[in-house]
Amino acid sequence: MTSERVESRENPFRGRERPRLVPRAMTGHEEEWVERRGAEANTARLCNEVLARCLAPPGADCSQELERVRALLVAQRDEALLQLRRLSLGDTVQTQARCPACRAVVEVDFPLSRIPLPSTAAPARVEVALEEGGRAVMRLPTAGDQEALLDAALKTEAERRTWLLSRVLLRLGDSEGPFSEESTRGLSTPTRAALERALEEALPDLDLSMSTGCPECGHAFSAPFDVPAFFLPR
Ligand SMILES: [Zn+2]
Repeated sequence: MTSERVESRENPFRGRERPRLVPRAMTGHEEEWVERRGAEANTARLCNEVLARCLAPPGADCSQELERVRALLVAQRDEALLQLRRLSLGDTVQTQARCPACRAVVEVDFPLSRIPLPSTAAPARVEVALEEGGRAVMRLPTAGDQEALLDAALKTEAERRTWLLSRVLLRLGDSEGPFSEESTRGLSTPTRAALERALEEALPDLDLSMSTGCPECGHAFSAPFDVPAFFLPR
């Protein structure tokens, strides 16, 4: 089974970077907003909204900007968030994390400039040849999908895979989407794995987690993305 990137006639940005969203620095409006909302479980929504707010004038309605942010690939959204954070609070994020090996609470001082920035150019459509014949066509998951996935509050990885595939599949063999979760649940595991592999290969890889080491036991680990540490001054 093979996957390949496919030229798409309807996407004018194919093969080069999409236009970037350039945020302004945060103001007291966004600081107050983050402090009020920072403990919410849906971190994707928080990130999307902070960015959208900083694409509009301070305190203004940002519903249109939010739709633009939700249409970005996750890596493109994260790239804009890095820009927003640097502009507002500098390069070093200070946070605390628990060492997964010895459970000690570790102070993390992480320079964001250490995060490798890949090109965020990506194909508009991904096409996969199916073992049983025919082809599948998918779009890439967006920042809006990430937000909706967290809202769906699914308990297992397999359920999340079912959900995501039903969301991004545009065509499967002779059938046109949209597809229900019931139909992607019914796909064979080799087919599901091939679709997921093709998405992974096509997605730009930008990881906002912060690699650090434990001073107590020397264990190297990644501190998870921390919304208040990322968007609020300490
Ligand atoms: Zn440790």
